[in-house]
Amino acid sequence: MAAGTKKDTKPLPAPNSDFYQFAETLIPEERALLDKVRTFAETKIAPIVDKYWADDAFPFELLPAFKELNIGGLGLTGYGCTGGSQKLFGLIAMEFARTDASTCTFWGVHDGLAMGSIYLAGSEEQKQKWLPPMARMEKIGCFGLTEPLVGSGAAGGLTTTATRDGDTWILNGQKKWIGNAPWCDISIIWARDVADNQVKGFIVENKTTPGFSVEKIEHKISLKIVQNGLITLDNCRISEANRLQEGHSFRDTARVLRMTRYMVGWASTGCQMGAYEAALSYAQHRLQFGKPIASFQLIQDMLAKMLANITACQCMMMRLAQLDDEGKLLDHHASLAKSFCTAKMRETVSWAREMCGANGIVVDYKVARFFADAEALYSYEGTFQMQNLIVGRAITGFSAFV
Ligand SMILES: Cc1cc2nc3c(=O)[nH]c(=O)nc-3n(C[C@H](O)[C@H](O)[C@H](O)COP(=O)(O)OP(=O)(O)OC[C@H]3O[C@@H](n4cnc5c(N)ncnc54)[C@H](O)[C@@H]3O)c2cc1C
Repeated sequence: MAAGTKKDTKPLPAPNSDFYQFAETLIPEERALLDKVRTFAETKIAPIVDKYWADDAFPFELLPAFKELNIGGLGLTGYGCTGGSQKLFGLIAMEFARTDASTCTFWGVHDGLAMGSIYLAGSEEQKQKWLPPMARMEKIGCFGLTEPLVGSGAAGGLTTTATRDGDTWILNGQKKWIGNAPWCDISIIWARDVADNQVKGFIVENKTTPGFSVEKIEHKISLKIVQNGLITLDNCRISEANRLQEGHSFRDTARVLRMTRYMVGWASTGCQMGAYEAALSYAQHRLQFGKPIASFQLIQDMLAKMLANITACQCMMMRLAQLDDEGKLLDHHASLAKSFCTAKMRETVSWAREMCGANGIVVDYKVARFFADAEALYSYEGTFQMQNLIVGRAITGFSAFV
């Protein structure tokens, strides 16, 4: 606690960002898993996260306990995956992000992007081979779509090439910003087949594939715990057995992105919750003019607006979870949630930062970490503009990408 603050003597309401009690809508077994994740986040992640964030380091010490949570393949059915509803998957993603958006991202890249690619675009044989060890988190995955010169335009512009040579494929190119890449085991690489110009997916074993190398991206100001890599593929030879057999074009890549954009909606809601709770607690104890700043009208106005943002995002995501569970989630549904929730997140975390004054820019007071991490969530998995163009195409019937 900073100089100029003191504990209030009367009991104050504990910060609670689940204002409409969404956790209570889970069935008992799912609620128990959510509570387990909350305990893990609060007792294992929270005490060490600021130090790892400041050091740009990944907390490998957490991996054994992470594995014991048994949440590998949450929301996916069969193949050793944990299963469960999309609501559970979402509330757990939100819970991780409420403590730390980086941990949520690490898990989302592995579970959603990497396992999701194999689940949605792999053959039965590929799912049986790769998903069980990934569900046990013995093998960790990443997802390589973005390139140094191709981000938003990935659908039609990938420059990484795949050339068929008998029973193998030769991959050449670079992938940038790839979360988990500097240390994980498996990369899903999306490349353009030079023969038919279509995007195809490949399962690449990072540690044993000649020509595969990764350079860690340094000096980030956001999600500093997530290790992002620049992957270089220099004549990497990949067997046809490792080409995702049901991935025929970018439309199949987009099916994976739909699922993970849905997840970013939850993650950005969780990031707001963490910032709000930290700011509220700060305001309850920070004294100015002889009173807690939480007793001032303008501070309460800001807190109410933050809670409204959070609750609106939670409502939106809960409906999206229902649509997903009913098999009705479409690209533009996920895109609207991704753009709305991440934009609201930016607003909420900036109010949280403002409320903490100078202490709002210091990692020790937590809010600064949420504030900085929000920037990556806002841009990754497709920027705000890209999501709105997807929505715009669906509602107008006109594509306005170029
Ligand atoms: C922390 C982090 C983790 C990431 N992890 C991964 C990962 O694991 N795997 C992966 O493949 N990628 C990953 N990414 C990459 C991410 O998905 C891209 O950064 C994102 O898609 C945007 O691409 P870009 O950065 O190249 O921006 P650009 O595409 O260069 O866009 C720059 C700006 O121009 C705007 N813009 C572009 N085109 C248009 C248009 N037609 N109309 C209007 N505005 C436009 C964009 O909205 C944006 O504001 C990660 C990024 C970050 C920051």
